Amino acid sequence: MHLLTTISKRLSAHPWFVPRLALLLFVVTVLGLFAYLRHGEHEEARLVLINDVLWVEQNLRFVLGQSEERLAALLEQARDSDLSEAEFRDRARLIIGANSAITGIHLSSKQQLLNYGQVLTNEVSRDALLLTRSNRRPSYIVPSQSKGMVALLIADHDQELIATIALPQLLQQQVPWWFAYKYRLAILNADGHELASKSSITADDENLSYQLPFDSLGSGMLLRITAYRHPTGLVQKLLTASVVALALIVLFSWWRLRRQMQARLLAENALREEHAFRTAMEDSLSVGMRARDMDGRIVYVNPAFCGMVGYSAEELIGKLPPYPYWKQEDIAGHQAQNDIVLSGLAPHEGFESMVRHRDGHLVATRVYTTPLIDATGKQRGWMSSVVDITALKAAEAREREQEEMLRHTGKLITMGEMASTLAHELNQPLMAMSNYASAARQFANQNNQEMLDSTLSKIAGQAQRAAAVVKRIREFVQKRTPLRSYCDLNDIASNAFELIDASARSQGVRLHFNLAADLPQIHADEVLLGQVVLNLLRNALDASGEQPQSRRDVWLATSCDKDGVYLSVCDRGAGIPPEVANRLFDAFFTTKSLGMGIGLNICRSILEQHQGKLWFEAHPQGGTYFYMSLPR
Ligand code: ADP
Repeated sequence: MHLLTTISKRLSAHPWFVPRLALLLFVVTVLGLFAYLRHGEHEEARLVLINDVLWVEQNLRFVLGQSEERLAALLEQARDSDLSEAEFRDRARLIIGANSAITGIHLSSKQQLLNYGQVLTNEVSRDALLLTRSNRRPSYIVPSQSKGMVALLIADHDQELIATIALPQLLQQQVPWWFAYKYRLAILNADGHELASKSSITADDENLSYQLPFDSLGSGMLLRITAYRHPTGLVQKLLTASVVALALIVLFSWWRLRRQMQARLLAENALREEHAFRTAMEDSLSVGMRARDMDGRIVYVNPAFCGMVGYSAEELIGKLPPYPYWKQEDIAGHQAQNDIVLSGLAPHEGFESMVRHRDGHLVATRVYTTPLIDATGKQRGWMSSVVDITALKAAEAREREQEEMLRHTGKLITMGEMASTLAHELNQPLMAMSNYASAARQFANQNNQEMLDSTLSKIAGQAQRAAAVVKRIREFVQKRTPLRSYCDLNDIASNAFELIDASARSQGVRLHFNLAADLPQIHADEVLLGQVVLNLLRNALDASGEQPQSRRDVWLATSCDKDGVYLSVCDRGAGIPPEVANRLFDAFFTTKSLGMGIGLNICRSILEQHQGKLWFEAHPQGGTYFYMSLPR
């Protein structure tokens, strides 16, 4: 099993190995089969050739044997009774008629010498004659100037017969036409010279050749047969060409297939990379994406959407409305919204929808839905981008709260200002009225009507003055509106410095300033911020005033970075104990006998109104740092 897995892994690493091997085996097998077939055919052709040559040799031998018998009978007859010339001719004609290769017969006995046709008596030597006589068998003699003629010599003790045989004619007559179409047949003398041959085709395209001793003629003659290429060679050639062509087609197809596969592989890789890139992009989106088919079935969600509702993609895909993240208590509302979207009437600017996260908390979303169109232009469903606006909603709520707070703070400021102004402005008329009232009582006791009238008039005058003060303050309150402009925090700090300088001196507190040179301008209400700085400085002076002379130092510094501008006020007072720290910014919280406890509360509200912050830190060697920050 392990081995199989290893082999399968190796093969997947080299996908072309098996096809290559198969192709190689195919080519080798085809070539081997081809060679084997050729070899078999060659052997078969050789056997056929041998059979055919034996057959033709037998045929020739038979014909020559018959002629020998007939000539021997003629010789016998000539010995028994003298033959007349006419009889000899008749017999000779009969023999030649049976074998037209015999072109002449010569008979010589003691009594007579008879000739018919072309005779070769001169070519037959005395030795040959003696040898034939002693052998008691016919013999063939090849004349030196034979030109395809051989002499057949039959002899007994006192007479001999010489027949002339034309070998070309013998072959012509005895070798059938079909044989001549297949083979070239030749008779050779002992030296290898060709005496006669027969063939129907003149071609040098010879193939197999075979030769055997031609015993019938004796005297070392040979019969040679040479096969022409078989006419089926053409079929074979065609077959070969077909096999080669097929092999080439297979090779070509393989090459094409390989190229196509390589191109496809490249395209697949590019596609995979692009897909991975797209997936990475979709996964890194903070906007939720949801695709639905025409029936509203969810077909795709991205991780941001899953994170928003707390369900995995597997849990959401395939779901039809009502979706698991719909609020149970408002299914009807969701359904109505969903129907609007699926009927294509979703507003372009999107709509807000409150959904429930799996863990139960509510998520405020804004959903933008558009038709999902495929490459052919057909609508396949709906694509929605879902933006989590919970934080935005919370910020809006906070802002509303802050505005509320600010309005409240504004009221408090006004109230505070009003109270102190009233206290100051009304103090004098009230004191005067009090004095005038005492005087009026005295004048009444003295019955001094004139003075009483005058004093009561003065009281009325003071009361009117008090009413005017109240009226003026009311007018002031009504006109009071926050005013933002571009201003410099260093200027605000310097103004506050000037206002506080006198009281710092009187309390023996040293003020140190460290203002940053390149502070950017801020868009803020200068007066309100001045109040903040003044309040921080005043608190620092209060904290320092209780300290020995050596620790009565207050530092004011400004700075900035890429995010904002900062101001800090530091004193070396007693610091802020934890129980005070918790309530420091509460309204009306104060540890001072004459304090109102709304300074820091108002300061923080003012900074929040400016999107800034106010916080404090303990000084390591005793005392407190107060920091305020404002965005650039
Ligand atoms: P108030 O100054 O009228 O008391 P604040 O809101 O300005 O009102 O201050 C609230 C309280 O915070 C103060 O009563 C004081 O106890 C504490 N506090 C403010 N600034 C400092 C400071 N620099 N050092 C120590 N305590 C401080």
